[in-house]
Order: sequence, then structure tokens, then C-alpha cells
Amino acid sequence: MNRTTTSKVLKSVADLKAAGLSDRADLDAVAEKYAVGITPAMVALMDPADPDDPIARQFLPSVEELQITPEERADPIGDLTHSPVDGIVHRYPDRVLLKAVHVCPVYCRFCFRREMVGPQGLGTLTAPQLDAAVDYIAQHPEIWEVILTGGDPLVLSPRRLRDLMERLAAIPHLRIVRFHTRVPVVEPERVDAELVRALLASGKTTYLAVHANHPRELTPAACAAFARMTAAGIALISQTVLLRGVNDTVETLAELMRGFVENRIRPYYLHHPDLAPGTAHFRLSIAEGQALVAALRGRISGLCQPVYVLDIPGGHGKAPIAAPTIEPADGGFSVRDWQGGTHRYPPDGTV
Ligand SMILES: *Cc1c(COP(=O)(O)O)cnc(C)c1O
Ligand code: SF4
Repeated sequence: MNRTTTSKVLKSVADLKAAGLSDRADLDAVAEKYAVGITPAMVALMDPADPDDPIARQFLPSVEELQITPEERADPIGDLTHSPVDGIVHRYPDRVLLKAVHVCPVYCRFCFRREMVGPQGLGTLTAPQLDAAVDYIAQHPEIWEVILTGGDPLVLSPRRLRDLMERLAAIPHLRIVRFHTRVPVVEPERVDAELVRALLASGKTTYLAVHANHPRELTPAACAAFARMTAAGIALISQTVLLRGVNDTVETLAELMRGFVENRIRPYYLHHPDLAPGTAHFRLSIAEGQALVAALRGRISGLCQPVYVLDIPGGHGKAPIAAPTIEPADGGFSVRDWQGGTHRYPPDGTV
């Protein structure tokens, strides 16, 4: 395979052209609307000879992004409807999102927050805004967990992360700090000993959700970054977006989930793609998603099963959406096994 290498993050259509990754002039209109960012690690994973390359599809802008469908919306999961102070989203009683930054090392073309992230996005919280966000958590004793997301919280320097973690460590009712990040996959060298230490907060438990969508993303360098985190006592979980043309086959999903488990990353969520503007080319139907997750069940270990979820548009939270395997029938239930056979429960002949 003839791969391209680069030592810098590609941030513009001109950068893409210089790297030989795009000769399409009409991408300027896309790049004006949505940020472009591709790290050297992801450039190295692309196969320029493959027009359907699953890595390129996630990061290379495409003119299809200019097609907005009627159901798409700028704030697909309703973040802005539950934001009591800047940077905080408080939708569920016991946990909040803290979005300190709105920049990322890469810009995924399917991003659900694509209208908020990037150089023209919501920016980084100012010092007083971050103070107010931390105060909000301190003043709400029901908050058991804070989820650092963004943008990508691991773009913060270890010093700034350490400062933030020290302040969170001082909040007694807060027990769990969870990061959602793509950095260990797209910029694994950033996850060095200093950064790993900065993710720990005295007396709190750190979880980190690794965002990866294709098994090829689990490179030796990424796996080494995962190992540095697990060795430090950080519990790893996964998050994947189900994407047409990237991971919409049982084989790809099975390999990805097994790859997570082999690296001590417990599969957590498989997200149905959100209704973000210009992302119709990535979306599958819910029925297609349900068929894929039903096929995973039984075929691979229970350790490898993610929960298939939909973020309900309008800010109503996440719902598990796998097809039910049990339904009421004849005063009892009908249960479907992993091969599609149905069985009565309780079995005939019992009361
Ligand atoms: C997704 C999300 C969470 C986290 O939900 P979990 O089901 O705990 O992973 C929390 N708050 C908001 C606003 C969210 O969108
Ligand atoms: S890393 Fe996350 S927040 Fe950033 S562009 Fe990708 S999906 Fe969006």
C-alpha cells in the first residue's frame, strides 16, 4: 500500500492538496463551513489508492457535506437546551458534561457537534467561565460524575488538566471523572507519562472513553497509549459511531470490538449517527443498525457487545435502541435466541 506521510496536522484544503490527498477545488466551500483537521497518524493510515478508504472517509472533507436534509439540525442532541452555565450540560440528575474546549486534533466529518467545534466554534472557556462551571459542580451535591468532553479535552496541556483535576478533586460529592477523547487514537504520542498523570485526581476514579470507529485505528502506537493509561489505573471504555462506508458490516464491528477488549477497553456505546448537518451520506437506517447489533450477539463474546444508542433529538437524552429480544405472547413471553429462533417463556408444560 502506498501511504502518504506528513509531520504536521493538515488544516486546510491547501494542506490536503500539498499532501496529495485532494485535487478537488470545490472543497473550499466545505472547509469554509466545517473545520478540517487530520493528524499525521491518521494520514499515515489512509490508503490513497482506495476510493472507499474507511479512514479517509472519516476525515477528508467531501462535497456531500453541502447537502443538508430537512431533518438535520445544528444542535442535534440539544446541548444548548440544558446548559445552566457556559461549558456545562446538565441533562441527567447525577452527571454533567464539562466542555472546556471546542477544538480537536482532528475534525471528523460526521461530528455531532460540528457547528460548535473548530477554530470558528464556541472557543475555549475563559478563566472566569471555567471558575463558574466548576462552581456549578461544587454547588450541586447530586453531581456524582463529570464528563470532560468538547471538543477534545486532551488537547489541553498537562498543566491545565492538572489544575482542573485538582479543583475537581476538592469537590467531595464528585466521585467519577470521565474523559471522552479521540487523542489516544489520532495523536497517541501526546498520551505520555505527564499527560497520563494529569488525568488522575486524588480520591476520584478516572474513566476514559476512547473514540474509535475502525479496527485499523487501533495501531501499535494507539495500543501503547492505551497501555500507559491502564497501567496508571485509568479504566477504559469505548465509543464508536456507526457509519455507512466505515464500519457498517458485522465483520468490521466484530474486529473493532474485539480489538477494544484485547486492549482492556470495555465496549460501551455504539452511537447511531446524529442528525448533524451535511452527514446524510454517513447515516444508516435504525433497522440496518439493529440488524448489525443483533448479528454481533452470540457471534462474539459478551465482553465485546456495545450498547447501541440513539441520542434523541431535542435534548431528551440517550435511549438504547437494539431490537427487543423478548415480547409478551399468550400470557407469557416469546424470547428470541442469538440464531433467530423463538422460544416461549416460561416453556410449555410449566405454569
Ligand atoms: C451522553 C451524555 C451523558 C453521558 O451519558 P451516559 O449514558 O452516562 O454515558 C451525560 N450528559 C449528557 C448531556 C450527555 O449527552
Ligand atoms: S473528535 Fe469528537 S468532537 Fe472532535 S470532531 Fe471528532 S467527533 Fe467531533
